[in-house]
Amino acid sequence: MSYSGTLLDYYLIIFCLMTSMAASNCNKFNEQNQKKSPDRLSEMRIKMVEYQIEARGVKDTRVLEALRKVPRHLFVPEHLKNQAYADEPLPIGSGQTISQPYIVAYMTEQLQLQDEDRVLEIGTGSGYQAAVLAELVDSVFTIEILDELSEQAQKTLRNLHYDHIEFKVGNGFYGWPEKAPFDAIIVTAAPENIPQPLVDQLKIGGRMIIPVGDFFQELYLIRKTSTGIEKVRKLPVRFVPLQGEP
Ligand code: SAH
Repeated sequence: MSYSGTLLDYYLIIFCLMTSMAASNCNKFNEQNQKKSPDRLSEMRIKMVEYQIEARGVKDTRVLEALRKVPRHLFVPEHLKNQAYADEPLPIGSGQTISQPYIVAYMTEQLQLQDEDRVLEIGTGSGYQAAVLAELVDSVFTIEILDELSEQAQKTLRNLHYDHIEFKVGNGFYGWPEKAPFDAIIVTAAPENIPQPLVDQLKIGGRMIIPVGDFFQELYLIRKTSTGIEKVRKLPVRFVPLQGEP
């Protein structure tokens, strides 16, 4: 009896020692992981810019810097965080998507933005593109047709202290006449035709980058001139449709 009692005590002491060592190791592991995590994510972001964006020819150093800075993983649903820096679009809920990082960079570069520009975005979605724009210009205006997506994007962007972005819930086809004219417009959902109200709200010399089409879409760069528009076809693309087109 006394022997088995002593053995049991011995086992108990060993067990307690092992579990407390495991727990403290486990805590250490978690602490290290939590400390490492932001670094790991910014490393992934730097690689994303190098391998997906610079490697495909985007050169504008301000655009590259903006993509290195904006924490894309905070703009995707929690369960997709690990894929935030992958070379693909991702679902953001309500049947919508955040664009592939390369497309965000390419479209932004095409607009040749200056600090003091006023930029309108159609299709706030997750708010990621708006954050990239906000890294580059003083005034960003963004319109989203789905209330729940706009709410979520506003929350994310407020937490990141992007205070120079104005939001509107509504049909972006009609633009935002009260805030016009704009130096640049970026449309991140595809209409079948170029919306005339958006052209009207561009300054002379202003640029618009816009996917146009139904199943087959092309990205167009438009420049407004004093006599009309110049339109250059850039890339085949695939965006969600612009809803509520008349
Ligand atoms: N720029 C976004 C991705 C946009 S996905 C980002 O960085 O995450 C396209 C978005 O356009 C979707 O959120 C969709 O709801 C929105 N959208 C579709 N039609 C619209 C319209 N007519 N006006 C405004 N937003 C529209």
